[in-house]
Amino acid sequence: MSLSSRFSCLDDHDPDALAVDQARAFIHSQLRPRLACERVALRSALGRVLARDLIAPCNVPAADNSAMDGYALRHADLDATGETSLRVVGTAMAGRPYAGVVAAGECVRIMTGAVPPPGCDAVVMQEVVRVDGARVGIPGGQRRGQNIRLAGEDLALGRPALTAGRLIRPAELGLMASLGFAEVSVFRRLRVAFFSTGDELCSIGAPLAEGAVYDSNRYTLFGMLSRMGCELLDLGVVADDPPLLAETFRQAAAAADVVISSGGVSVGEADFVRPLMAELGEVLFWKIAMKPGRPLAFGRIGAAAGNADRGAWLFGLPGNPVAVMVTFYQFVREALYRLMGADPLPVVPLLPAVCEHSLKKLPGRSEYQRGILSQTAGGWRVRPAAAQGSGVLRSMAEANCFIVLGHESGPVAAGDVVEVQLFDGLV
Ligand code: AMP
Ligand code: MG
Repeated sequence: MSLSSRFSCLDDHDPDALAVDQARAFIHSQLRPRLACERVALRSALGRVLARDLIAPCNVPAADNSAMDGYALRHADLDATGETSLRVVGTAMAGRPYAGVVAAGECVRIMTGAVPPPGCDAVVMQEVVRVDGARVGIPGGQRRGQNIRLAGEDLALGRPALTAGRLIRPAELGLMASLGFAEVSVFRRLRVAFFSTGDELCSIGAPLAEGAVYDSNRYTLFGMLSRMGCELLDLGVVADDPPLLAETFRQAAAAADVVISSGGVSVGEADFVRPLMAELGEVLFWKIAMKPGRPLAFGRIGAAAGNADRGAWLFGLPGNPVAVMVTFYQFVREALYRLMGADPLPVVPLLPAVCEHSLKKLPGRSEYQRGILSQTAGGWRVRPAAAQGSGVLRSMAEANCFIVLGHESGPVAAGDVVEVQLFDGLV
């Protein structure tokens, strides 16, 4: 079934005012991860997606060990309520266990991470113990097993420590190291080709001709794609020239898994891009009910008939610099993670914040205003960046979050709680 007929099957869709959630869900439903996997050295796995379940080849921790600095003892020696005096016969250090035997009425000094001697089944923290020469007084009320971390408590031998699809962040890297893995299987990097279109665009390094603008979209795209760990193919600036555009799209689709263009999908320009796309593959042109970022093209290009595995997914983003970033974050980011094999997809939470200003908003479209979130004694507050035009990239640079005004929501009064989406994630 063709892409357009699958899209037509959607209930209640209007390609001239498609809700953000509908577009996102449709895109998501079409994509399947198909990347080959490769083995890489552990450090190179950062930012990549795990291709196979990682089964723990050992217990972590490998042996029972003390969670505290204190005294390891035999719980049965202790008086349940009163103090018990024990003789200290030695010391167990992390990496250097006590070699002797702990007999009845004896204990050893033990450090965090050290393995308790055989027979010792509790550790009492040093702060509660009364030291008296070579003896210690242990207060009543201790529990068997207390302050001992059990072997396999963090990761059990033979169980999956991480499952395929996991995006590898610093914690996963450390966890894999804790299991002794020097190499892991990850999906190969997603190849993304991208370029800017427009006769008015000038590349940096050249003097700006009259009426021209420097191409900034290729740099925001470079930044966002690099941070996602994609393999990049920068195809430069392409003039509004149909044969040249067709050739660039063809070349991009042959070399990459995903092609991202910016510009050329607004109402006037789509008129000449549309027939060109019809020759290259199957691309849907949408007007999304959102601000900014209304025009968006999505589809598949460059696949030879009967060979759907070849070719590339296309995202034709609008030309306005803010709209490029908004549509990337709201549609492309998640789509790329899906194609990268990430499962679960990394979520971007919507967090509540008190809006300091009133905001105009009509129900029936989603808005992504650029906001400045700050912490006050009364909690998190947000105010819109000064200039909200979809061409004003300064608003993105000044802001640290989107103020997300949902499809159905109406105007916001000063003091209302709104939802924000932070630009930066912690890891
Ligand atoms: P378009 O979607 O091609 O009609 O472009 C919409 C607006 O965005 C126009 O003002 C363009 O000059 C501007 N624009 C398009 N592409 C870029 C780019 N790569 N860098 C900066 N501005 C751009
Ligand atoms: Mg243009």
